[in-house]
Amino acid sequence: MTTRRLDGREVASHLRRDLEHRVQQLAASGEGSPPRLAIVQDGMSQGAGLYAASLERAARSVGVSTHLIVGAGPHDGAIAELNRDPGITGIVLAQPFADVGEGRRLVELIDPAKDVDGATPTNAGRLARGEPAFVPATALAVIAILEAFDIKVAGRRAVIVGRSAVVGRPVASLLLARDATVVICHRQTLHLARETRRAELLVAAAGVPGLIRPEMVNASAVVIDCGINATDAGIVGDVEFAAIAPFVSAITPVPGGIGPVTPMMVLRQTVESAERQVP
Ligand code: NDP
Repeated sequence: MTTRRLDGREVASHLRRDLEHRVQQLAASGEGSPPRLAIVQDGMSQGAGLYAASLERAARSVGVSTHLIVGAGPHDGAIAELNRDPGITGIVLAQPFADVGEGRRLVELIDPAKDVDGATPTNAGRLARGEPAFVPATALAVIAILEAFDIKVAGRRAVIVGRSAVVGRPVASLLLARDATVVICHRQTLHLARETRRAELLVAAAGVPGLIRPEMVNASAVVIDCGINATDAGIVGDVEFAAIAPFVSAITPVPGGIGPVTPMMVLRQTVESAERQVP
């Protein structure tokens, strides 16, 4: 059996072309506002800075302008202003904030109609209820990869390792909405390997390098690795890629899998938000 390598860079480049076209169409229509993404960060975390920079780069590549706000805050006034500004179609808080509680508090101030990384409780609630919502970008990237490679989801047993609000839970909601049978695992799961071995679709989102080892995966599985873990050996995922890739049916690499698709999902939702303003 040949393993399919699910190349996220390829998917991101298709998405980039599509978004570029949609941005041009919006400009040509002369109606609504051109998409513009505001990124708010506290300037303290290197991870948040890298995320903000990757969003800015991706935005430039599709012709979406950005507005970066960096500073110690408080950011309440800035977010209220961004909510009011009709020229801003998307707002993202580059997490983590040094003060995690402050990051969580500020998220709740974002207008759900501009919440293009699906971070607000309103959008999380809509997603959990199976209603239209803006969705966390990494979770959407999982779906974008499955769709791009025409991987069947309906009726299949999906096992997700991780239950965070940013990745595990929204992935579960999206897969459930596509008629998968979903199992969510976490640190308290007894016999993790027993669960993961039964997965036809395995999504790893734990943030633990090499958590998923060969004996934990069955040969027909499609494996999606959301992990981005900095190690002495460089960035690695949650899956032991080299050991597992030869015998599963399909797998995303790290880097080059979910990572490049994620910023495109923020931009897709920023463009959708602008398209909604067109009468
Ligand atoms: P969190 O730390 O918020 O959540 C991790 C989840 O994994 C928790 O639910 C935790 O369980 C579970 N978990 C941790 N260790 C184990 C274990 N040994 N066995 C079973 N479950 C475990 O992380 P995030 O969801 O924010 O991120 C997960 C990974 O995805 C990270 O590597 C992160 O860098 C990456 N990421 C990638 C993005 C991308 O664009 N590709 C974007 C965002 C994140 P419990 O709830 O019991 O604690």
